[in-house]
Parts: sequence; C-alpha cells; structure tokens
Amino acid sequence: MLCPYCGVQDSKVLDSRNSEAAVRRRRECISCSRRFTTYERPQSNSLFVIKQDGRREPFSREKLLDGLLKACAKRPLPTGKIESIVTEIELDSLRQGRGEIPSVQIGELVMNKLRDMDRVAYIRFASVYRDFSEIDDFRVAAEALLHEEGERVPSAQLPLLFPEVPASRRTKRGRAGKSR
Ligand SMILES: [Zn+2]
Repeated sequence: MLCPYCGVQDSKVLDSRNSEAAVRRRRECISCSRRFTTYERPQSNSLFVIKQDGRREPFSREKLLDGLLKACAKRPLPTGKIESIVTEIELDSLRQGRGEIPSVQIGELVMNKLRDMDRVAYIRFASVYRDFSEIDDFRVAAEALLHEEGERVPSAQLPLLFPEVPASRRTKRGRAGKSR
C-alpha cells in the first residue's frame, strides 16, 4: 500500500476494524510518519450480471451506484447509506457463492431496500427500472406503496414523486400532446 503523501511502500497498521462492508485499517507511513486509512473489500471481478436480453457483463459498482444516486438526489439520507446498499447487494451475492445474478433481481433487491428507507427514492428508482412511461404508472406505484401501509395518499407528497414533470402535465391522464 503506497503512502498517499510520499509514495513509500511500507506502512504499519495501527488499527484494524471489521465492518459489514469492508476492513478499515488505520496506517502510518514508515518513512514520513503520516497517517492514512485504507479500506479492503472483496474483488467483485467474479460477479456477473445477466441482463434481460441474456447477455452477461461484469457487475459494476459504479453503474449501480450511479442509478441509486440519481434516485436519491436531494433526499435526506445518511452519508454512506447509498454506498452501503451497493456493497450489501454485492457481498450478499458473493456470500451465496453466486457467480452471476440477473439484473432483474438486483433491481428488486434495491427496491426492497429503498422501500423501507425512502419512499420518494423508491418511486424514482422504480420509474427508471420498471420503465414508467405514463404519469399513471407513477400514480399506481405510489398508491400501491401507500396502500401497503394502510395510508391514504398524502397529496402534498405527490409532486415530489415526479419533479421533472411540468405542473401542466400533472393531470390524471397526463398524456402530453394527445387528445387536444
Ligand atoms: Zn509517507
């Protein structure tokens, strides 16, 4: 492990801590005595994703993280929570001794985790993942979610669910440009 300050190879480990996601090590450089932290996690080169068209591609933390960050943009989530979802999914798959996981299943795993965490992020992720194309798709998903919890639809929350849609299109049958 190269020292990030002076580039010397040797460091001594001051402290080693296991967390769910990775092993965190506090190190001190033998040469310049400055301290830094490293995280070790299993390599996921061995994990492949089977896409819906049957193609396989290496599991990409970055890709999954990118989708999650978009879904969770501006949501009040604790720092590191989103990364830990990605890590959990990756590690769970590896732990089960699986070399490959269908992309559909990754989507479902993410949605299960988001549903408990943040409902707005859940709907946003579902909209991309399930390819919502109509406003009604959002409404149905939101209502299903709320129905599950035995709540009534809090109309104040609905605009949060599709912030990109102009207000004029937030009608019950919001098919833009049609029937007019
Ligand atoms: Zn150094």
